[in-house]
Amino acid sequence: MTLSCWQDRSFEELLDADVAVVGAGFSGAAVAWWLAHSGLGVTVLERASAGAGASGAGRGRIAPPEALPPGEPRDAARAGRGWLLERLLADREHRVALRRGADGALHLDPRRLVELLLEDVMARGGVLRAHTEVVGVDPAPHGVSLRCPACTVHAEAVAVGVGVGLAMLLPGLAGTLVPRADALWARPRDDTWEVGDASPAPREATHAWRRERLCTRDGLPRVHRAAAAVYALVGVQEERWDLGFFAANRLTEMLVQGRDPEAWLWGDGVA
Ligand SMILES: Cc1cc2nc3c(=O)[nH]c(=O)nc-3n(C[C@H](O)[C@H](O)[C@H](O)COP(=O)(O)OP(=O)(O)OC[C@H]3O[C@@H](n4cnc5c(N)ncnc54)[C@H](O)[C@@H]3O)c2cc1C
Repeated sequence: MTLSCWQDRSFEELLDADVAVVGAGFSGAAVAWWLAHSGLGVTVLERASAGAGASGAGRGRIAPPEALPPGEPRDAARAGRGWLLERLLADREHRVALRRGADGALHLDPRRLVELLLEDVMARGGVLRAHTEVVGVDPAPHGVSLRCPACTVHAEAVAVGVGVGLAMLLPGLAGTLVPRADALWARPRDDTWEVGDASPAPREATHAWRRERLCTRDGLPRVHRAAAAVYALVGVQEERWDLGFFAANRLTEMLVQGRDPEAWLWGDGVA
């Protein structure tokens, strides 16, 4: 019996996109959102499902901008927070369970926020392909080719937001991130547990442990150009998703304008 191409697994699907975004955590979703709002055709490739990585597992706390020292990052945090609140969440606060703490922090449902960003992308014609892992990024005529186990995606440009998956996908950028350990503790309170990450742990803490994450050396997100038309957003921390949203906007500007600097950093602007 001859298999049709739809049954024969040796046939590989070929897809085209203006821009392919790898990763559907907050980083990828934020970049996809800005790209879609720039009028570009976006295809998001996610190896599991939206928010399945660190983004969906967090507490959803965004620290107040004032937690940063005065200067460019604090201004950017204000701008990023304003964009999130006014442009994305203005009439949808209840849908992300948004709360404002007495200290000025925002608390929201992190997985729902990622979904909202991607819903907006899809409403603008974007595509989300879950369960599609990118295993290779190759230069191609007029763009970039992304290798996936069952498909190849050709895009004019690629934006990577894969969190801790960076070392696997773009090993050349792995050195831009360093591990940072957080000390966590828990103590019984009423019928439940109170969990915190301030150090040292309070005397009543009955449990203490450490967790490692990857950060940039200054703790601020940044954008790297990994190769021609391949950009990566790295070092986005949950407490500073406002800065992540701002950096995603800068990545989109670099990509749309075809600018060629190797990185977008804080302080001196473009390196
Ligand atoms: C253990 C841990 C503790 C943390 N603690 C804190 C904290 O205390 N405070 C704080 O501010 N921040 C913390 N963070 C960081 C915080 O989680 C990040 O802000 C944020 O959620 C990272 O978003 P992201 O989109 O960059 O990564 P992720 O949310 O991990 O998203 C990356 C996505 O890319 C997908 N992916 C990866 N590789 C591929 C591939 N090859 N092809 C396709 N898809 C791929 C993944 O499945 C995932 O969905 C912590 C992170 C970790 C891991």
